[in-house]
Amino acid sequence: MTKELKNKLNDLDKDYSAKIQSCVDLTALQDLQVSALGRKGELTELLKSLKDLSLEEKKILGPLSNDLKNKLNTAFENKRSELEAAQINAELAKTDIDLTLPAYTFDKGRRHPLAIAQKRMTDILAKLGFVWAQGPLIEDEEHNFDALNIPKNHPARDVQDTFFIKNTFKDCFVLRTHTSGVQVRTMKKQKPPIRIMAPGRVFRKDAIDATHSPVFNQIEGLYIDKNISLADLKKDLTVFMQGLFGKNAQVRFRPSFFPFTEPSVEVDVKCVFCEGKDPACSVCKGTGWKEMLGAGIVHPNVLKNCGIDPEVYSGYAFGMGVERLAMFSLNIKDIRAFYENDMRILEQF
Ligand SMILES: [Zn+2]
Repeated sequence: MTKELKNKLNDLDKDYSAKIQSCVDLTALQDLQVSALGRKGELTELLKSLKDLSLEEKKILGPLSNDLKNKLNTAFENKRSELEAAQINAELAKTDIDLTLPAYTFDKGRRHPLAIAQKRMTDILAKLGFVWAQGPLIEDEEHNFDALNIPKNHPARDVQDTFFIKNTFKDCFVLRTHTSGVQVRTMKKQKPPIRIMAPGRVFRKDAIDATHSPVFNQIEGLYIDKNISLADLKKDLTVFMQGLFGKNAQVRFRPSFFPFTEPSVEVDVKCVFCEGKDPACSVCKGTGWKEMLGAGIVHPNVLKNCGIDPEVYSGYAFGMGVERLAMFSLNIKDIRAFYENDMRILEQF
């Protein structure tokens, strides 16, 4: 019995070694491997039959069979590598690729200057405790105008200023003219304290020129809690501007008017280019100041419209154009530079 099996092992060894050696393609090699070492392969069957042998016979034939199995496995792997290499070389020989040529280089991407500017602003606001809030680009009149105390006859509602979307079911929809709808939505669903920033795209019916675009980016902020006053607004916005333009940046607050805040202010920053010393400065037009954003104490009517008791809570809100601040801090004179994708400009930032 032992002798017979030894002979069988020898035969398998010779047979398969020769067949592997003469094999010329990968599919045939795979078939050959299955017929030797597969689940029902010849060597596998032989290994299975060893279990019926005596202990003495197993001691001799067990190691021999395993050695053969390992030897064949190695032979199959070596042949496979050899055939694969030959296949690749044959493919290469068919083409005229010059492998000695240097590879193509790829341009690395970078952030768009507006993305850089927005990130700087939101990073500072995040440090001041503002959390990111989002809302729809298409708003109804309730969230874009009514809740914000903007009267029905306000010029902002003019079709000349706003993109209206006709709707047969109810009131018109608009492409949001500011991100204040996000403030309204947040106040309606969340109890104070509220401290959010709402960055995003807004739309106005402006013809495009050096300082206007029908689509631009805004960041609005809202802080509602007990006893919030103009002093909090001045402190936080001064810290914000100094974070953006350096700790020596000078900030000025001027009285203004918005339907949704009372009192309202415009916030100016001392011109960082001429520091107010150059009457011919093209950035500040010689005034020494640059208007940066509008802000104010949230009007009690707005709080009421959003279900917040103005006798208990108060708060401030502000809104700024990302492009305007980016143009000022990066000294870009034309807003179109942001949208025209001229690599010579974009690559500078
Ligand atoms: Zn200036």
